Amino acid sequence: MMWAQALEGSTPSLGTFHMRIGVHCSIRKGLCGALEEARRLGCDALQMFTRSPRMWARRTLSDEEVEVFRAERQRRKLFPLAVHTPYLPNLCTSDERLYSRSLLALKEDLRDAARLGAEFLVIHPGAYSPEATAMEGRRRMIQAINQAFSEAPDGVMLLLENVAGGGRRMGATFEELTQLIEDIRPLSRVGVCFDTAHALAAGYAIHTEEGLTQTMDACQRILGWDWLRMLHLNDSKVPVGAHRDLHQHIGKGFIGRDGFVRLLHHPAFQRCFGILETPKDSPQADPRNIRVIRTLLRHPPS
Ligand SMILES: [Zn+2]
Ligand SMILES: [Zn+2]
Repeated sequence: MMWAQALEGSTPSLGTFHMRIGVHCSIRKGLCGALEEARRLGCDALQMFTRSPRMWARRTLSDEEVEVFRAERQRRKLFPLAVHTPYLPNLCTSDERLYSRSLLALKEDLRDAARLGAEFLVIHPGAYSPEATAMEGRRRMIQAINQAFSEAPDGVMLLLENVAGGGRRMGATFEELTQLIEDIRPLSRVGVCFDTAHALAAGYAIHTEEGLTQTMDACQRILGWDWLRMLHLNDSKVPVGAHRDLHQHIGKGFIGRDGFVRLLHHPAFQRCFGILETPKDSPQADPRNIRVIRTLLRHPPS
């Protein structure tokens, strides 16, 4: 796989972890526009949508568009590529209409991601319906993923992202992620994306040294670090346990600079690449956040 080769070429320097870093890039200027943005920012990797995240409508990608994209990406050596699914689908719902639309969207997204040569497709597990139970929501999600896997081409790993939790949203804890994953088949097609802001908001005190140790010990015991493939590097505008999903610039939120130094050098994330989903509130925001992360990666915690 191209991605593995690209990773092999990047030997870690003494005393630091090498982590490939990227940004969630916009497709406002087309699919290749995202690649151009990633290149301009000096990214190793990138994440993008393949369609508007707040609409059901999608257009079919033309063969020509796909070919140009793949060639451009190869030329720019951007590895890995993660596609994030839109926000509307909900695989845990008991609403049959929403469920079948969500299942169809997952199949389409798996197919599009495979055509584009993406290594990963990131999904939020979803929320179960008011009249249902968490167990029912879980059953539905697993059924949908297994069905999509049986029909969609292989080659893309589906990453379940931990969420900030609260209400009926599933996937905020390692227990839930484990329960969601264990009945998916084949297991080789699934992994976990760990979002730092979501983890803090879900109640994991990853901003403190002790809290991070406890959290990652729990992760190893319950889920297993091997499932962690990707980090969403976001600071949080809300404190631990707030159950709200509000991203902040690296070092300027409740996780803080010291929190990120420890996180980035934690052995649990050795196999991960990192993607920033921090606010794009000024032209300097992305360059600054990338710079901060790269600086912290060069300086292990004392
Ligand atoms: Zn996400
Ligand atoms: Zn995220």
